[in-house]
Amino acid sequence: MIEERVALSRFTTVGVGGPARWFARPRTETELSDALSWGRQQGVEAITVGLGSNLLVADGGVDALVLRLEGELAGAAVESELLVAGGGATNAVGLHRARAAGLGGFEFACAIPGTVGGGIAMNAGAYGGDWKQILVRALVVSADGAEWRTAAELGLEYRRSALRSGEVVARAEFRLAPRPVEEIKATISDLQARRKATQPTNKRTFGSVFKNPDHELSAGRMVEATGLKGHRVGGAQISPRHGNFIENAGEATSEDALALMAEARRRAHEQFGVVLEHEVRLLGALELQPL
Ligand SMILES: Cc1cc2nc3c(=O)[nH]c(=O)nc-3n(C[C@H](O)[C@H](O)[C@H](O)COP(=O)(O)OP(=O)(O)OC[C@H]3O[C@@H](n4cnc5c(N)ncnc54)[C@H](O)[C@@H]3O)c2cc1C
Repeated sequence: MIEERVALSRFTTVGVGGPARWFARPRTETELSDALSWGRQQGVEAITVGLGSNLLVADGGVDALVLRLEGELAGAAVESELLVAGGGATNAVGLHRARAAGLGGFEFACAIPGTVGGGIAMNAGAYGGDWKQILVRALVVSADGAEWRTAAELGLEYRRSALRSGEVVARAEFRLAPRPVEEIKATISDLQARRKATQPTNKRTFGSVFKNPDHELSAGRMVEATGLKGHRVGGAQISPRHGNFIENAGEATSEDALALMAEARRRAHEQFGVVLEHEVRLLGALELQPL
């Protein structure tokens, strides 16, 4: 079923953004293919959202068919030493299944509040691990059909993949390795405690704003050095805790967040000669002006 004008602020962790012109929640591969075919017939772009944990959606909304994978496309199970998960499965569910089966290798994802498909699209990673290291293959579905692609064919690099517009990760297989459950639990507690100590985990954010530049300073340290930590535009604020996060400090709009991003880029360029590239994906009419 295709819904109309569904507010996307509910589907992003930062809680801002306008409506999707069209919206669907496919639960099976057949429903997904049907929705993609419908999008092609209507001539609208298809965009998948996971948990919206690295998304900034334009206040005016998105003139596209937005898909959110549910049902069997959001489940996960262990088969031998493989974690087999739907593209819409949350990392938390995948991690839970792996831990229950005594399989390690996915622990790094405990601090990444997204889905399996979003992790592939972004090649998400933390604490030395990323999707590229454990992904065996993924089933990619588009209006043209479905095909399995290996990690190499998906072109996973630092916070990017070669997935094209209209391509949806419906399922993925990860190779894990036996590990004692107590060790897995200890690693997860340790990583979560490290996260809590350094990042605004109790605020509404969209994760890293910028990719780390090729520079001795990380993006967060660079923004901090420009004096912008705690700086506010409207309802959005550069986190007082970590320079590479923008918090929704109450009634923020995407334009507020974009204005902060533009100012951070301008100052980083002026001070360090570095052009910061945004990691957060921008949906709809949102654009950072060239420096
Ligand atoms: C508090 C916090 C901490 C974070 N920490 C980290 C971190 O340590 N490391 C890190 O890498 N990221 C981190 N992030 C960012 C984010 O969680 C990751 O990028 C995550 O992988 C995004 O997954 P998602 O399902 O929420 O995708 P979304 O944000 O919904 O979408 C991101 C991109 O993936 C695409 N996409 C989503 N699902 C699919 C699919 N099934 N098929 C094809 N494309 C798809 C979307 O179209 C979009 O382009 C953090 C975010 C927050 C809020």
